[in-house]
Amino acid sequence: MLRQRTLREKASVTGVGLHSGRRIRLEVLPAPEDNGITFVRADMRVHAELKACIDHVIDTTLATTLAAGVNGSRASVGTVEHLLAAFNGMGVDNAVVMVDGPEIPIMDGSAEPFVRMIQSVGLEAQRKLKRFIAIKKEVKVKDGDKFARITPGEGLKIKCTVDFDHPLIPPLPYTFKFTERSFIRDLTRARTFGFLKDVEALRERGLARGGSLDNAVVIDEYRVLNPDGLRYPDEFVRHKVLDAFGDLALFGMPFVGHVEMFRTGHALNTQLVRKVLRDPKCFEVVTPVEADLELVEQGAPSRFPAFEPLEGTLA
Ligand SMILES: [Zn+2]
Repeated sequence: MLRQRTLREKASVTGVGLHSGRRIRLEVLPAPEDNGITFVRADMRVHAELKACIDHVIDTTLATTLAAGVNGSRASVGTVEHLLAAFNGMGVDNAVVMVDGPEIPIMDGSAEPFVRMIQSVGLEAQRKLKRFIAIKKEVKVKDGDKFARITPGEGLKIKCTVDFDHPLIPPLPYTFKFTERSFIRDLTRARTFGFLKDVEALRERGLARGGSLDNAVVIDEYRVLNPDGLRYPDEFVRHKVLDAFGDLALFGMPFVGHVEMFRTGHALNTQLVRKVLRDPKCFEVVTPVEADLELVEQGAPSRFPAFEPLEGTLA
């Protein structure tokens, strides 16, 4: 369970790009140990390797976009956060993502279709042990009254508070304590959301062309416009946690620590990762030792995030 994981075989999904409105095909292939998550633009002939890491973040407005260039040709892939959250939550360390357009398809606005895609082929344990970024010192980033903070601690926890001054979005904190099981149960189905007035403004700017009630929760001043309503009563704050969990995958490996966030978005999430990695005193890369493996083997709590045994199937 603390061994590196990849997909057992190729998996794929097709969906619409939220901003381009184009139909996009995504294929995920198994990758060797220590590869990490890499993106390949299948519609471009040559481009630089685009690894999912903080150095490749070029834009965080509306979604997280990665880019890398070589010989004057630059490849970018947008809206990576829900797919990265699915990999992170299921313990996928290594995969190659082939995508034939400039953004990952939005699917239903949540991470669930990606989780299903991974479950459809299953995972394989690799020989090498996982590596984790363990936080050693508090790091905080802020922008006005918005902030994100990460502190040392056992396991992986994210506490998030939103404040939209909207009757449907109470400013109550939501705390997510990671286990693979709680990730699948409590976070994966939370969809992205938007306010009707913002959606209209984005459309005028030629953005959110693929956006619809099939891939986002849309609210006006008083109500949810989606006929089926919400998937969780507090779906909004859960989606914020899902986004943060996906953005924090840009550490390049799972982390051990506790995160607290207030009114954050992709910009602060990624700044937090950058600030941690800039100071070697703030973190260390750790691999589990024999004693940790024994604890996990017995199903006892360990300091590492809890992943399910691969034999077990999760609904
Ligand atoms: Zn999102």
